[in-house]
Amino acid sequence: MKILVMGPPGAGKGSQSAKIVENYKMPSISTGQMFREAYASNDPVGIEAMKFIEQGNLVSDEITNELVKHRLLKHDTEKSFILDGYPRTVTQAIALDKMLGEMGTKLDAVINILSSNDVLFERMEARRVCKECGASYHLVFKKPRKNGVCDECGGELYQRADDTLESVKRRLSIYETKTKPLLDYYEKQGILYNVNGMQPFNNVYADIELVLRDL
Ligand SMILES: [Zn+2]
Repeated sequence: MKILVMGPPGAGKGSQSAKIVENYKMPSISTGQMFREAYASNDPVGIEAMKFIEQGNLVSDEITNELVKHRLLKHDTEKSFILDGYPRTVTQAIALDKMLGEMGTKLDAVINILSSNDVLFERMEARRVCKECGASYHLVFKKPRKNGVCDECGGELYQRADDTLESVKRRLSIYETKTKPLLDYYEKQGILYNVNGMQPFNNVYADIELVLRDL
């Protein structure tokens, strides 16, 4: 099962992907997480990438494609994987299809989490992320057991620099112009599945499970 989870920023891609990973034991390829890890270990690629990310901009197609290609060449992705946050442009999607084609495989499904801008703004304001393991929380819908502390690893929770209002606005407009065209791209391939993201976390996940079970 090789899948991609899509949706506008704040729709809950990361949290839903984490739950799929946990239940299906498949490797996760999250470019956001990979860039943050590279940044944390002072890798020049990570430092360069974080400049774009913190302003709410996209990292260049070239850097991002290269990062994903390296990850896909590891053996654990042969049977299954889940992509989160990549591809974000049609150029990246074409590059991904080419990479997978060269490996003799392809994407099985693209799950698109639908959401309205109002809901997205409200969600991102309340989002908190673990400094240590990257687990994501919401101050209303997915509270940590202890304030400011990660349930998974005890790490400190913080608000990501790209979750501020200005940055969120920019990410949404970039999503509209660059990422939304991907939906057409995958619709034409017949692998696009839409899921309603404007419901509680567990209900969204239940809808995703229905899609996965059919695959
Ligand atoms: Zn944690």
